[in-house]
Formats: sequence, structure tokens, C-alpha cells
Amino acid sequence: MNAEIIAVGSEMLTPFRQDTNSLYITEKLNELGVAVDFKTIAGDRLKHLADAVRHALSRVDLLVISGGLGPTEDDLTREAVAEALGVRVKRDPELIAHLYARAAARRMTITRNNEKQADVIEGATMLPNQLGSAPGQWLDTVVGKHRKLAMLLPGPPHELKAMFEEQCLPRLREIVPKKHIATRVLKAAMIGESTADAKIAPIYTQYKDVETTILAHLGDIELRLTCAKPIPELAQTRVDELAGKIEEELEDFVYSSQGETLEQIVLYYLEMRGATLAVAESCTGGMVAERLTSVSGSSRSFTGGAVVYSNRLKTELAGVDPQLIAQYGAVSREVAVALADGIRERCGSTLGLGVTGIAGPTGGTDEKPVGLVYAAVSDADGTEWVEKRFSGDRAGVRFYASQQGLDLVRRRLM
Ligand code: ATP
Ligand code: MG
Repeated sequence: MNAEIIAVGSEMLTPFRQDTNSLYITEKLNELGVAVDFKTIAGDRLKHLADAVRHALSRVDLLVISGGLGPTEDDLTREAVAEALGVRVKRDPELIAHLYARAAARRMTITRNNEKQADVIEGATMLPNQLGSAPGQWLDTVVGKHRKLAMLLPGPPHELKAMFEEQCLPRLREIVPKKHIATRVLKAAMIGESTADAKIAPIYTQYKDVETTILAHLGDIELRLTCAKPIPELAQTRVDELAGKIEEELEDFVYSSQGETLEQIVLYYLEMRGATLAVAESCTGGMVAERLTSVSGSSRSFTGGAVVYSNRLKTELAGVDPQLIAQYGAVSREVAVALADGIRERCGSTLGLGVTGIAGPTGGTDEKPVGLVYAAVSDADGTEWVEKRFSGDRAGVRFYASQQGLDLVRRRLM
């Protein structure tokens, strides 16, 4: 089964309001195993709305419409759906009485136009609204030769959620074929989205029943694998199988197979090895330490370190020989290595990490351009380093540098 969500309201076609109802509805439908194939935002115009409804009913099994059920002139959802289906709306006297009773109970007087909210689309079931005045409507109908479900829900998010949860979900659970959705999230560091995709597309395209999406962040890609099947084990087997093949192809770029963050994985490896880490950070200004300490329990393996932005502190806090800085410059392989060695020794940790680079946008030269970053990791067996040229703005280069630093430690521990 597939679905479309139509968010009704001209305000959502302005820069000031966003449709958030569809995010909630999508989450709930996905949990049922229903894919949302289209989302539409339609302004408060009868013709546009009716067109959108007709279009939706021609291409999906299930239509959720949010908004436009109120009493005002621009609340046109009922009329639009009736027009699209070629049926009429009927004003329900019982519902009118209910509207007036509800208002009276709240010591409010209401105007005649409120009676609009008692218009029932022919063939629809009313959905009572516990939190507002506009009732929703549920339609189980046939268009062409196909069964179509449509639900009209109020726009205010709390009303929509309550109505969907209490009245639509139980009905949908009866109708939608039971499916179990299995998900896996793989993460890979320091590999480009297109490079990764070129490697794995030939694999995941073979798995037509598993949906694979790639989300790219800075220095990080996230692969989400989902599969819906009537039997839970079947769905799980399929995603696990594909995840295994992808991991094999991307090799040690993959750092997480259950969605953990890079910093969590680094700390996990450190703890597994009974090792500790200290960092000396220049261009990242403490970002590596910040990321590590954001993980609860990090004190077991992260000892600390220093932000060594000036040359003087590189020497005083991380023991870098001033001669090295004078000869090679603060942003150099030699200084990165010295930072890693020095901080490890000063902090008495098993591993030391040094990061230095040019975050920009100023300070670059032909020889040492903006984005140039060196990271080095040191342990009892020696010191290794990487040189990278990252592109992006200052925030981007700094994040990349922290990612590179953490990834270097991860690889050293593998
Ligand atoms: P009402 O009886 O309040 O008029 P309604 O069903 O006509 O209900 P709308 O007038 O469309 O709903 O919207 C009412 C409120 O809900 C507005 O504040 C609007 O911004 C908010 N709203 C409507 N649609 C959405 C949406 N898709 N996402 C988030 N908020 C929404
Ligand atoms: Mg309204």
C-alpha cells in the first residue's frame, strides 16, 4: 500500500509556516508498513484542492489530508474532496446540534458559518474531534476499480495527532496488510558519497525489497536499509544480508553497523583495549574533546588534553620543539606528529592525537592553502599521520578535521 499526504493551507506556501503534520503522519504510516510516495501542499482554493485530491486518488491507495476543516470561508477541504469524488456534502442536523451544545458548554456563542463543519461527504464516517470543533472524516470508497481510503483531519497538530492515533490507526491496522519493518543503519567515515555509492550501488540495486537511502554529512555517510515483510525474521534476514555485503565492499570505512556515532565507536574500542586517549588540538579548538566528552562514560577512556592554538602553548602544553615549528610551520606533518607524541607523554595516556590545520577563510598560502589539515596518532608502537585538503567554510573544515582525527584513532585501534 502507498500513500499521499496533502497539507492544506495557503500559509504553508509562504516562507513563514511549515507543514509539520506530514512528518508525523509519515512516521506513523511507515510504522504500519505503508510508504508515503507523495506529499502535496495546496493553498486554500477549491479548484486547486480538488485537483490535488483527484490526482492523489489516481496514484495512491491511501490519502491523508490535513487542514481546511474549520468554519471559515477558506476551509474548503470537505467541498474539494466531494467535488473530486463527484459526490455531495450533506449537512448533518445532529452534528449541528452538537456544535451548538459544545459552544454553549464553553459559554461561547457561534455564528452560522460554523454549521459548515457539520457537512458530511456522502459515504463518509465522521471522526469526532475531542480537542477542537471541526470533526474529521473517514472515507472508504472505490475509485475506478480500486479501493481507496481517504481521511480528512484537522490542521492543528495536537488535534490531528489525537484523531489519527485514536480513530484512524485502529481502522488502518484492520485494513493494511500486516508487515514488519526491519532497519539497519550503517555509517562510514571519510569516504565521499559518490565514491561509496559507486561501490555499493551494484549491490543494493539487487535487493529490490530493501530500500536503501544514503545521507551524506561532513566526512560521514549514513546508509539506511529498510525492508518490510509479513514475517519479522524474513525482513531482518534481508537487511542483515545486504548490510553484510555493503560492509564487505566498503571495508574499513564502515565504523558502525547499528547507527552509533564515530565518537561512541572510538570510546568503545578504547575501552575494549583497556586504552586511554589524550588530544592536542589546534585548528579544531577542542571539538574532538567536545565530541568525545558528549558521550556518557567517556571518562573511562578519555583523559583530556589541551587546546594549543598558539605556538607557545604547542610547546608548553604538548612539548613540541620550537625548532620544528620554526622549520616546518605550525601546520605541518612534523608538528602534528610532535603534538600527538607530546600530549601522549604529558598526559600519560596509551594514545595521543594531534590535529593542526588551516580552517580559513584567511591564513591560507599557495604552499599551505585553506583546508589543509594534518592529524597524527601516537602509541607505544609509533606514530602515523595523514594529510588532507578539505573544502568548505571554516565550520566545515574544522568539523572535517575533528572527524579525521577521530577516524585516525579508530583505525589505529582496529
Ligand atoms: P481550524 O478549525 O483551526 O480552522 P482547520 O482544520 O481548518 O482547523 P487550519 O485552519 O488549516 O485547520 O489550521 C489550523 C492551525 O493548524 C494553523 O495554526 C496552522 O498553522 C496549523 N496547521 C495547519 N496545517 C498544518 C500542517 N500541515 N503542519 C503544521 N501545522 C499546521
Ligand atoms: Mg481553518
